[in-house]
Amino acid sequence: MSLLDALKRVFRHRPDATTSVQEKSRAMTLESPVGNTEPVCPHCELSLEKMPARKKRCPRCGKYIYVRTRPADRVKVLVTEEQAAVIEQQWGIHCDEQENARLRSLPGFEQARTQLVQSLRREPTEHEVVLELANRDLALHGERRNWGLYRNAKLQIAESLRRLGKTKASLTAYLEVCYLDVNGPENVGAINDPELLTECPPFRPDTAQLARGLLWEVETMRQGLKLNPNQLRGAFLSAAANDHRSLNLPVSPEEAWRKLSQELSAGDVSDEATMTARGH
Ligand SMILES: [Zn+2]
Repeated sequence: MSLLDALKRVFRHRPDATTSVQEKSRAMTLESPVGNTEPVCPHCELSLEKMPARKKRCPRCGKYIYVRTRPADRVKVLVTEEQAAVIEQQWGIHCDEQENARLRSLPGFEQARTQLVQSLRREPTEHEVVLELANRDLALHGERRNWGLYRNAKLQIAESLRRLGKTKASLTAYLEVCYLDVNGPENVGAINDPELLTECPPFRPDTAQLARGLLWEVETMRQGLKLNPNQLRGAFLSAAANDHRSLNLPVSPEEAWRKLSQELSAGDVSDEATMTARGH
């Protein structure tokens, strides 16, 4: 996972609009440049011999000096721990803005936005529009039996729901992606010959793979929602039951759960998720 992704995850629940006075003053701090660009202690203003390359103690006041890069101008600065936290928040906002610009350039975005304005009677957020686009994609790829693309649309739905703060619905969608992945979804939209379809089936569990990032996401959400493994199992089975029926998937939900829970309990996934949930 890249640093940007890590930051985006840490700050994903940042509210979009700042309203209260307290939040407004916080927003102002977030816009203003933070830290010393010169080799000067951010605590006691002592001039240092040179710019430190990493965290160190000030020889005069003994407090820790942190080295960070500001997102606005990409300048390296010396900061206190509190200022370092502000810079991290600035990075979170910066990454969200980049992400939103990317979303606005998606095909069909403007058209979906206009339609949502009419149905919601307000301006939708970028992620509401993307959720709408992903739902359309899902229906389209399902009709065309392109199950790999269908799976990708489902992943986009999960991601958008998460960003909209709909954590439970998002977890359900991520679990559906896991279930699809265990079944090995294939794009068979171009194949109409029934004989060929038996050679190139729409789902191939023998090629199935569970992506590490996906497992990480599920584990992080499980911890965030404080679900125990048994509750997660229940959530998975009910999410999978729908797809098992409607898409006629070859791997049963129970069998898929065994595979998923095995992968989830493989130490490194849960350790990493725990670290992130603690804010490291
Ligand atoms: Zn100092």
